[in-house]
Parts: sequence; structure tokens; C-alpha cells
Amino acid sequence: MVCICFLVDQRRMKKNMKPVAATCSRCGCSAKVADMETSTRFCKIPFYWNSYKAIICTYCGATLKSYP
Ligand SMILES: [Zn+2]
Repeated sequence: MVCICFLVDQRRMKKNMKPVAATCSRCGCSAKVADMETSTRFCKIPFYWNSYKAIICTYCGATLKSYP
């Protein structure tokens, strides 16, 4: 059963980044709002997708806020 862990991976993609009036709480850099899309893949075949909006830091990549 252990080998299943190696066959499942998750990809996270950022789309449509737009500037937003927010700063990162970790590094103080400017943040952007982006349409995020995650896909969970099993043996390289995507079987689950999830998309949401999130405010992310462009410098350190921290997710400051996410909207379902
Ligand atoms: Zn940051």
C-alpha cells in the first residue's frame, strides 16, 4: 500500500494574477490575487480538480487568504 503514495501527486497552478492592495504578513512584500487551480493526479492522470481564488505573496509564495 505504501507505493500508492508515490503515484499520487498534486499540482498547483496560478492563473490571472492581479495586483491587490495587500501586503504579506511574513515578508511585507506586495501580494496579488490569483485564480488558483489544484489538480490531484493518480499515475499522472488527473482525477480531482479544485479551483479557488487566493491572495498570495509574489515574493515568498505565502497564501494570505483563500476564497472557495
Ligand atoms: Zn511574503
